[in-house]
Amino acid sequence: MEFSTFHSDLAGTDIKPNALLGKYLNMLEADAKALAGETMKSVDCPACGSSQKQAYAAKMSFEFAKCGSCATVYVPKRPSQDRLLRFFKDSAARRFWLQDIWKETASVRHEKILEPLKDWVETFLAETGVVGRPLRVVELDAASWGFWETLKENPRLQMRFVEPMFDLSLQPSCEGAVDLLDSAGIYDAVCLIEALGRVENPLATLQWASQHLAKGGLCFITTTLSTGFDVLTLGAASEAMLPPERLSLLSIEGMKILAAKAGLEVVELSTPGVLDLQNVLRGHRAGAEIPPFAKYLVETRAQDPRFTYDFQTFLQSHGLSSQGRAVLRKA
Ligand SMILES: [Zn+2]
Repeated sequence: MEFSTFHSDLAGTDIKPNALLGKYLNMLEADAKALAGETMKSVDCPACGSSQKQAYAAKMSFEFAKCGSCATVYVPKRPSQDRLLRFFKDSAARRFWLQDIWKETASVRHEKILEPLKDWVETFLAETGVVGRPLRVVELDAASWGFWETLKENPRLQMRFVEPMFDLSLQPSCEGAVDLLDSAGIYDAVCLIEALGRVENPLATLQWASQHLAKGGLCFITTTLSTGFDVLTLGAASEAMLPPERLSLLSIEGMKILAAKAGLEVVELSTPGVLDLQNVLRGHRAGAEIPPFAKYLVETRAQDPRFTYDFQTFLQSHGLSSQGRAVLRKA
């Protein structure tokens, strides 16, 4: 298992322009408040299963707790998967995201997020040794069509969705590309792009991947981790907790536990994030209390690009950024 390092000139505001983002968050808050008033399911830690937990933060009418065993941060009273599916398809906030923000940021998102994801997936898939037929790839619990569309450009890949968490009528080209959750389909790769954070049950989602992967098949995961520098430094003030978009922030240890429970071998587990210092500075400027050392880093030392580069490289090298990604293999 290796930690890879990765750098880009990605700025948080490139992919989330402030004015539109503010409107989105207000809409999401209203939608989340209505959702939180409904009957919820009680769950233990979605990674290790421990019931030991401490109250951690209140966000958008939902309460987050921190697992006393593996440090995963999660919403213990959460909507069912069926309710989440309906929320992601019907909520005004999600429609605004896909119809307005998505379009506004399409080219920068494509260049700085989707293309690097495509390169990452293609690099690993090139090593599977499958020849003479297209590789069957599925995105499970997708919240948009961006990743699917980007990978579809590769003629060697046959791209499908299972249980898409968006209204397909917003992008009619996706409609014929959906396989059923209860089908017996077997895939060469299952992709979970930020999906583990938004589903009701991350273990069940990963088990679905495991059951539907061919022998040697790969599961590609991107997810926000609770053990990243910015999330830990900002604590309850971290914006990474964003229900119902993110109900679970796995710790890096929790991610390993989850992979083992699903019977998948870890090939890569890394944190290629580049925004930790930026996120801490923004949170601090918005009034978050942070430790003196972190304050000194972001206010003074991070003025030096060389420092920022070295510091983010250190975080990446040791799996300490909050943007996590994993490649798991079915043995
Ligand atoms: Zn746990």
